[in-house]
Amino acid sequence: MLIMKLVNILVVACAYFTNTHAIASTSHQKKVSITFDDVPIHGEFTLSEQSLRKINHQLLDTLEKHNIKATGFVNEGHLKNNPKLLRTLLSDWKMRGHQLGNHTFSHISYHQSELKIYLEDIKKGAVITQEVLGQKKQKYFRPPYLHAGETNESQHLLHNGLKMLNLELVPVTMENADYIYDAPYTKKLTSKEINAAKNYKEQYLAFTEQRLDFYESASLNMFETNIPHILMLHVNQLNADSLDDILTSLKSRGYQFQTIDKTLKHPIYTQPTQAFKFGIHWLFRWDKSRDNKVRWATEPEPSSDAFTAHNRAITILKKETSHVPVD
Ligand SMILES: [Zn+2]
Repeated sequence: MLIMKLVNILVVACAYFTNTHAIASTSHQKKVSITFDDVPIHGEFTLSEQSLRKINHQLLDTLEKHNIKATGFVNEGHLKNNPKLLRTLLSDWKMRGHQLGNHTFSHISYHQSELKIYLEDIKKGAVITQEVLGQKKQKYFRPPYLHAGETNESQHLLHNGLKMLNLELVPVTMENADYIYDAPYTKKLTSKEINAAKNYKEQYLAFTEQRLDFYESASLNMFETNIPHILMLHVNQLNADSLDDILTSLKSRGYQFQTIDKTLKHPIYTQPTQAFKFGIHWLFRWDKSRDNKVRWATEPEPSSDAFTAHNRAITILKKETSHVPVD
């Protein structure tokens, strides 16, 4: 009898806990979509075919480990001389259930192109991707450099141009300047300075945490809630080796991962955005078109040492890898 009583108390207690927990998790659940620019590789310097395969497979394996369906924005131009490899890598992304969006053919800036030429470059950048997608139509677009129109008018013209191509622009609300840290990291790996490489990775992960803290507090400040975020990463060696840490950190912050289709349904993604001359995320744009609540000057930036290391590594890597016959 006593045992039955105890079991009953336990059952009631568990039900109470589950209910409370369910309410808490629906009302405060943080959500994020993971997106990658420059699929199948960020193009600041050239890497071997073997490296490209390894980087893409590492990223796809980590996404699978965390049960995430991501969106990759494709630059077909970077592998224009190796369409076979491009087709294979894009097929891998598709087979693992990820979306393949458009990132123009030649990674051009909208702010330095005529709209007609820009839209042609987008169409040119969808040829092999569409072959890989088959029946499924490409739906999403991410502008290189996040250049989405310097004026409200040019922003509007791009929006209409994309609509004609049945593409939707995918904003960014979180980014971590990964490309700044990737070049010195890769350089140290190629010269077998493993500890030095590890040091850049640690700097990168610490910087990512600072940025995540900032974006969460900016979102709370602006909307009194953490909106469903869109994280932008690039396909590179550093992210291949760091993605597991980044996703684990997002999970421990309480984030659930969801597809871009779901995130874009949130009303915030229909809000007007301030046109801007420079490539910047959408939290800034929304804030500037609303109440200007956030002190953007306090947004963490990579140190000047990180920029110097990036520039130095790029120069060396460009020289060292100019013979690599991928591009
Ligand atoms: Zn890009």
